[in-house]
Amino acid sequence: MNTECWNPERELITRDKLEALQEKLFLETVQRASRSPFYRKKFEETGISIKDIKSLSDITKLPFTTKQDLRDWYPYGFLTVEKEKLVRLHVSSGTTGQATAVFYTRKDIESWAELMARCMYMTGARPGDVFQNMTGYGLFTGGLGFHYGAEKIGLLTIPSGAGNSKRQIQLMRDFGTNVIHIIPSYALRLMDVLNEMGINPRESLDLRIGYLGAEPYSEEVRQRVQEFYGIKAFNSYGLSEMNGPGVAFECTYQQGMHLWEDAYIMEIVDQHTLEPVPEGTLGELVLTTLSREGMPLIRYRTKDLTRIIPGQCPCGRPHRRIDRIQGRSDDMFIIKGVNIFPVQVEQVLMSIPEVGTNYRIILKKEREIDQMIVQVEVTDKVFVEDMRHLQRLQKKIASELRSELLVTPIVELVEPNALPRSNGKVQRLIDMRCN
Ligand code: ADP
Ligand code: ZN
Repeated sequence: MNTECWNPERELITRDKLEALQEKLFLETVQRASRSPFYRKKFEETGISIKDIKSLSDITKLPFTTKQDLRDWYPYGFLTVEKEKLVRLHVSSGTTGQATAVFYTRKDIESWAELMARCMYMTGARPGDVFQNMTGYGLFTGGLGFHYGAEKIGLLTIPSGAGNSKRQIQLMRDFGTNVIHIIPSYALRLMDVLNEMGINPRESLDLRIGYLGAEPYSEEVRQRVQEFYGIKAFNSYGLSEMNGPGVAFECTYQQGMHLWEDAYIMEIVDQHTLEPVPEGTLGELVLTTLSREGMPLIRYRTKDLTRIIPGQCPCGRPHRRIDRIQGRSDDMFIIKGVNIFPVQVEQVLMSIPEVGTNYRIILKKEREIDQMIVQVEVTDKVFVEDMRHLQRLQKKIASELRSELLVTPIVELVEPNALPRSNGKVQRLIDMRCN
């Protein structure tokens, strides 16, 4: 095996040594966390003495931490260091309600950059490459997280930020960008702009690698992005509470994301009973930080649904892999008694070539009956076709959605660029039933 690593000692560690390291870091983390106002109170209330936490398997004796806890103890309740040791804060995107704050010491910034460097190096980014970071800088962790990792490797980094598509394309052309970081829905949007400008990225750009993450997307979107841009697209997972990006990342085999187990302990639990599920079964990802100094978190419920991919990755890294995130448990909607994730709709839509780059799902109540409306942008080519062809396409989409979801939606075809766009995380679902 010839696996090139940024940090071979940590990335190719044996499983035994990895678990021993986890245990040592876990015990230190519990000690450290008990100094924060939140955990001090929590441990007291639940009658936990840290003396009873002696090994990794004792983790199940500890209570879960939730986003609500972060909100209740906002802003400083989770700190384990004096404020003068902090050098940065980020605020989560607030996709699901009031935002939460995360703090970093200098050492936290350093260990985060280390993890990001591993991720990008693992996929083949090397000094000499030009890296264009097309996600928001600022409070969102995606921008600065990747930025620090890229500079650590020594990539020529263009902090282009989100949006301004024409300028993004100009930068890619002028500087020969090879590596990009981009939110999947924006990668789809940029395809339209390139098409409008008559630019074929396979011929006119030098792109080789793309990092796609920060929101759920389907394998079909990955395939489209790879095909159109002529790149290998790697899935990137993270969340502000755990630093930001760099929690789990795909290697060159693109068979699930390695979760860095020397930095995080992962558990997958049943989202209702909170009991561990057997390996390979879908459940909620729960994470404990192992290397965060300023704000360690124990058994944090991410709400993200995934499963552990059983078996060894051909790359040889012993860090276990998680599957593509299906969505947050709160993204799931129930219609006519059926549970559906937006990404299931996307999977069907994106496998139909006449479907364009954007869609949304609207849930409505009509005469007390739930209706699911799927608005779909079609490609330019289709839009100029005659009515009969469009009706056929509409029926085909409805029938494919029905056979996947077991619910018959109302499909509305709209012209390219008709649906709202955002430069950040996209909102696919509009539920108007409770208003
Ligand atoms: P917010 O929770 O407010 O959106 P974050 O910016 O911290 O704030 O977002 C982290 C969340 O984004 C994750 O918990 C997950 O739901 C989603 N996410 C991040 N990366 C991916 C990915 N590769 N696939 C699916 N979802 C992702
Ligand atoms: Zn691998």
